[in-house]
Amino acid sequence: MSKPFDRLQSVLKLEAQQGYKNKAVVGGIRQFVSFWVEQAREEAIDEADAAFIEQTAQALTDYAQTSGNGRRMLITRLIDKLDERKAKQPIEPAPVVLAPPSLSQPEPDAAVEQLKQVEETINKQIDSAISEPVESQQVETQEQKFNAPVQTKKVAPKKQKAKRPEPASDVYEPDPLSLKQSIQKIKGVGPKMIELFEKLNVQTIEDLLHLYPRRYDDYTTMKSINRLEYGEKVSLIGTIWEVRSRKSRNNQIVVQAVISDGTGKISATWYNQPWLMQKLRSGLRVVLSGTVEQYLGRKVFNSPSWELLSMDALRHGQIVPIYPLTKGLSNYRVQQIAKTTVHEWARKVTDPVPEDVRQRQRMPSLQKAIKQVHVPDSADQLIAARRRLMFDELFFLQLGMMGQQHDWIGSPGRSLAVRGEQINNFIHSLPFTPTKAQMRVITELEQDLKSETPMNRLLQGDVGAGKTVVAAAAIVGAISAGTQTALMAPTEILAEQHFSGLSKLLGRMGYRLALLTGSVRAAEKREIYAQLAAGQIDLVIGTHALIQEDVAFKNLGLAVIDEQHRFGVDQRAALRHKGPEVDGEQITPNLLVMSATPIPRSLALTLFGDLNLSILDEMPPGRQEIDTHWIRPTARERTYAFVRGQIEKGRQAYVICPLVEESEKLEAVAAVEEYERLSTVIFPDLKLGLVHGKMKPSEKEAAMRQFYAGEIDILVSTTVIEVGVDVPNSTVMMIENANRFGLAQLHQLRGRVGRGEHKSYCLLVAESGSGDTEERLRALEQTNDGFELAEKDLELRGPGEFFGRRQSGIPELQLASFTEKEMLEAAREEAEQLFNADPGLEQPEHKALHDRVIQFWENAGDIS
Ligand code: ADP
Ligand code: MG
Repeated sequence: MSKPFDRLQSVLKLEAQQGYKNKAVVGGIRQFVSFWVEQAREEAIDEADAAFIEQTAQALTDYAQTSGNGRRMLITRLIDKLDERKAKQPIEPAPVVLAPPSLSQPEPDAAVEQLKQVEETINKQIDSAISEPVESQQVETQEQKFNAPVQTKKVAPKKQKAKRPEPASDVYEPDPLSLKQSIQKIKGVGPKMIELFEKLNVQTIEDLLHLYPRRYDDYTTMKSINRLEYGEKVSLIGTIWEVRSRKSRNNQIVVQAVISDGTGKISATWYNQPWLMQKLRSGLRVVLSGTVEQYLGRKVFNSPSWELLSMDALRHGQIVPIYPLTKGLSNYRVQQIAKTTVHEWARKVTDPVPEDVRQRQRMPSLQKAIKQVHVPDSADQLIAARRRLMFDELFFLQLGMMGQQHDWIGSPGRSLAVRGEQINNFIHSLPFTPTKAQMRVITELEQDLKSETPMNRLLQGDVGAGKTVVAAAAIVGAISAGTQTALMAPTEILAEQHFSGLSKLLGRMGYRLALLTGSVRAAEKREIYAQLAAGQIDLVIGTHALIQEDVAFKNLGLAVIDEQHRFGVDQRAALRHKGPEVDGEQITPNLLVMSATPIPRSLALTLFGDLNLSILDEMPPGRQEIDTHWIRPTARERTYAFVRGQIEKGRQAYVICPLVEESEKLEAVAAVEEYERLSTVIFPDLKLGLVHGKMKPSEKEAAMRQFYAGEIDILVSTTVIEVGVDVPNSTVMMIENANRFGLAQLHQLRGRVGRGEHKSYCLLVAESGSGDTEERLRALEQTNDGFELAEKDLELRGPGEFFGRRQSGIPELQLASFTEKEMLEAAREEAEQLFNADPGLEQPEHKALHDRVIQFWENAGDIS
C-alpha cells in the first residue's frame, strides 16, 4: 500500500460523501493537492506512478471552478483509477520508509475520522463567524489562539465546568516512581536520542511529559492568499517562487521572496538578514506569519516569521505542537516520541494539585492536561490544558515563595534595642528634609528592627526616590543597638559610591566603615575579615565578596541589598546564615532589599512574595521632568551641537555606547572607538573621559572622579554607568543605539541626569525599528514615571528579559507569564489558602505537592 495514494483516496471519498462541496479538507481540494503532490512524488515508484500523480494534480487544480456535476465525474474517475492502481501494486510495499514503523500513518478509516474532524472545525468556524459580531470574524492567528496568554477563571467557557476529570485515569494506580526512569524505556529512544534530549534537560520520562511545546501551528486557520485583507495578522502556506536580494539606500541587505499558494502571490521582505538568501530557496514550502501590509497597492509582508512546512505535521493533525529543539532533533521526532510517551505513561502521573483547587479553578486533571498539551484533540481542550499547566507553574512558584517567607520569619530572630534618638539625630543631620514617604518607610524599618521576627523587606522606589537615605537610617538604627551591618551592591562602582556617600553621611557619627570588593587586595581583605569577626567594623559595604564563606561577622544585625533584581533568592539565603549564634541558636539577621527598577505591584508580590513590601511613592521636591527625545541617526550632528551648547553653559554630558553584543569585551571596544571618534573628530576642544567594564576598577574610579569633579565634560561609557552614579551637574544623557536597550535599563540610564537644579535631557538615538522598539522609545518620551514604564516593559518583553532570567533566582516558567494578572491572582489566593491550612505542606495528602514544589524550585536560576 502506498500512503499518499490512500490518503488521496480517503479525501476524495469524504468529498464524495459530503456532496462535492470542496470542503473535505481545510483550504479546499486544490490546496490539499498542492501538498499532496509533493509527498506523492517522493513516493512514486515508477514512471506510471509519476505520470498519474501529475495528471491527478492537474485535474484537481481547477476543482473549485468546476461545476457540481463535473466534480462528481472527476472524483468518481479518480477513485476508480486509484482502485486500479492499488490492485496492480505488489504485495510488498516499496521500501520507502519515512518514519519508523511504530509511528505509522493513520489507517484509512482513521484518516477519514480525522478529516471529519477537520470538517467539524470548519463548520464551527463558520458558525461562530456567523453568530459573532463583525469585529471578531477575523481568523485568529495561532498566536492569538494558543501562544498568547490563556483565559483565566473568570472567562473560562462554561462548558468546561460540566466536564470533570475523566474517570478513566483513576482506573490505573499512579506509579510516580516509574516516571523517574530514563527515557530509554520509551519505544524508539536509543542512546543517540538520549544524548540529544539531555540537551533539552530531558532525562526521565517525567521530564519528557513536562517538555511542553513552545507554540502550536494551527493548520485549521490558514488563509489562502486571495482572501487576505490589509492589516490582518495571518498565517499562510505557500511555495517560494523566487528569492532576490538587493541593497537598500542605507546599505542594508534586503531579501525579497515571492510566495504563491495557488490562489495568488504575495511578496515578503526581510531587512538586514542576508543569511536568508541561503535559507529561502525557490520551490520550498513555507509557513509565513505576519501582518498583511500594503505597498504600491499590493499586499505584502514585511519581515514575517517563517518556517519550513512540515508535511508530516500537516498530515497528522490540524494543531501541531512545536517543541523546543536542539540540533539533530527534529520537531517531528520530538512530536512522535512525546506522543508515544503520552499514550503509555501520562496516566501514571500523580496530580499534585488538590482536588478542591482544581474544582474551583475548573481545571482538567494533570494527566489529561499533559495529554492535551502534547496531542491536542481540539483547540478548546488545548487551551484548557495549557491553562492548567500555567496555573501549576504559578501555584508552585507562590507556594515556594511562601515557604521561604515562612522559613525566614519563622526562624529565630531577636529584637534589637534600637535607639530612636540616634535615628532622629541622623535625620536632622541631613542637608534636606526627608519626604513623607521616606519617613513612613523609616518608621516601618525601625519597627521591623525592634520586632523579634527577622525583617525580610523589599523597598521599592523609582530612580532618585531617595532609597539610600532610608537604608542609612535603618543602618543607624541597627548600629545604635550594638550590632554590625552590611550593604551589598551589584557592581564595584556602585559599592564604591555607596562607600563614599555613606562615609560622608555616617562618618561623623563615629562609625567604622569598610569597603570589601573583589579588587581589594588579599592582605587588606584578610584584615577586613579579621575586623569583621572581631566586631571592629560597624558597616561593611561591598559586592558579592560579602557573601563569600570567609566573611564572618561577630554580630550581624542588618544586611541591606541594593538593586535587588540583580540578586536572587540564593544570595539572600547566603546572608541569612551570617547571623550570630546566641545561646546556641543561629539568629537570622534582618534583611532589607532595595529595588531600583520599579516593579509593578502585582509582580513584586509574585517575584518577591517572600518579602514584605515598602514603596517610596513620592519623589523628593524639586525634581524636574527630564526631556526625552528620540533622535534619528541622521540628526546626530545637530544633537552634538546641542550637547556642545549645554557644555558651554557649564554642564556635563554622558554618551552611552551601544551594546553591540552580549559581550563586555566587544562593548568595551565600541566605547573605546566612540571615545576616539568623539574626542578627535567631534569635540576635539573638549575634555572627554572613558569608562567601560574592561578597565581596572582604579581606572574607572579615576575617570568617574574626574567627571564628578567637573574635570571632564563628556563621559563616554558603556552601561557600567547604569546604576546609582550621581553627578548633579550632568544634564545630558545621550544613548546611542537606544533600541538595543530594554525600557527598564533606558530609564535607569536616564536617571543619571536630572539630579541637580538644571534642566536635563535624555537623547535616544535609534533608527526606527520594529513595533516594539518604537513603543519603548515613545513610552520613554511620554513619561518619567518608572512604575508606569515597568508595566509597559513587562507587557512588551515579559519578565524573563525584565529581570535577566538567570539572575532572578526564581524558577524558569515554561508556559505561564507574569503578565497574566488574573491567573497570578488566582494562583496566589489558592496558594495562600492552602499554605494557611498547612504551612509546611506537611500533611500526607500534600506530600505529592510538597515534592513537586521542591522539584520545581530546584530549577531556579543559577546565580553564578
Ligand atoms: P535612589 O532611590 O535612586 O537610590 P538616592 O538615594 O541615590 O536615590 O537619592 C538620589 C539623590 O536625592 C541623592 O543625591 C540624595 O541625597 C537626594 N535625596 C534623597 N532624599 C531627598 C530628599 N528628601 N530631598 C532632597 N534630596 C533628597
Ligand atoms: Mg540607589
